Amino acid sequence: MSTEKKEPATRYCYHCRTHHPVEEMKLLVTKTGSRWRCIKSIEAVKRSKEERDQYGKQVSAANQAEASGRARMLNKIQQGR
Ligand SMILES: [Zn+2]
Repeated sequence: MSTEKKEPATRYCYHCRTHHPVEEMKLLVTKTGSRWRCIKSIEAVKRSKEERDQYGKQVSAANQAEASGRARMLNKIQQGR
């Protein structure tokens, strides 16, 4: 007779505050201890960070273009006087 209990193959994800299958989880070691977090959420953060970086580059490029355009306009105004 087998009485061995199956360990639940889930871990509590501190990010989603729910349980995920352990194969989708990753153990992260932090200053305060180790925490389980799902790979999905880690990948999502990585992706959104890349998107943010991309967006940030676009914005700063646009700002630079605007700034140089404004500088050219100021030059024109000053030369016109
Ligand atoms: Zn999760």
